[in-house]
Amino acid sequence: MFATLSDRLADTFKNLRGKGRLSEADIDATAREIRIALLEADVALPVVKEFVGAVKERARSEEVSQALNPAQQIVKIVNEELVTILGGETRRLRYAKTGPTVIMLAGLQGAGKTTLAAKLALWLKEQGKTPILVAADLQRPNAVNQLQVNGGRVGVPVFAPEPGNGVGDPVSVARASIEEAKRKLHDVVIIDTAGRLGVDTELMKQAADIRDAVQPDEVLFVVDAMIGQDAVNTAQAFLDGVGYDAVVLTKLDGDARGGAALSIASVTGKPVMFASNGEKMTDFDLFHPDRMASRILD
Ligand code: GDP
Repeated sequence: MFATLSDRLADTFKNLRGKGRLSEADIDATAREIRIALLEADVALPVVKEFVGAVKERARSEEVSQALNPAQQIVKIVNEELVTILGGETRRLRYAKTGPTVIMLAGLQGAGKTTLAAKLALWLKEQGKTPILVAADLQRPNAVNQLQVNGGRVGVPVFAPEPGNGVGDPVSVARASIEEAKRKLHDVVIIDTAGRLGVDTELMKQAADIRDAVQPDEVLFVVDAMIGQDAVNTAQAFLDGVGYDAVVLTKLDGDARGGAALSIASVTGKPVMFASNGEKMTDFDLFHPDRMASRILD
């Protein structure tokens, strides 16, 4: 991810190297190249416009035009603006003050929710937490089983409806899971919800019903960064239909151009909290905007 964008930006900065003061034409040419690089990386147009506008304005300021090394100054500005569009500070998980912390996952089918649920459980376990996974995806026949397999891989128990015991609907399962967590002293409850192939109102309603029933401390929207511009549209649809506190980007190990990862925080106003970057259970961590920006400008 970001390989093309990184190369493009590096070329842009190379053109500035060795230049003394920057002329208006130099700044315009640089802004144009940054604009093309971002558009080619699939960054959403409003985000590109804002980004380039900010870089241009700052580049015209004293700090750059008077600087001995304008190229370095521009790189610094682009870095800082990248951190800004990526959401600024690292967003950390908020834990409940009393009782178990409830985390609900929402997103499209195939986004990587079930995998993510187990990765998050492992990550929490490594920090001394005692999570429980909850199978509230009762749409896809294999989803419960898949969560159980993933839970087994990370050694975290899975709460799932047992056939015939009366908790067959996702809202009841989610509600019952909180009681189970309290009984068995689990301090974090991770609820996996159903995802459809496309955004649909029934799915949204189900997720909203679960949210209303369990009042999660964090609703996380899980999205596949490989789906490009669609990720931003889906993110907006879930924001309107379900609402969430933060975003989790999956499949950052892929060769997508990176636009989704770059635009999503800026377009939705919600921070990216976690990133998932591989099939292994340990391919997962908090998302750090500053590290991501540095990686792009490496
Ligand atoms: P769900 O339908 O949202 O629950 O998605 P799944 O968890 O079943 O994931 C869909 C597919 O994406 C599976 O084949 C996962 O192994 C794969 N997957 C999930 N996360 C990642 C990731 O970060 N990187 C890669 N390369 N594959 C992933």
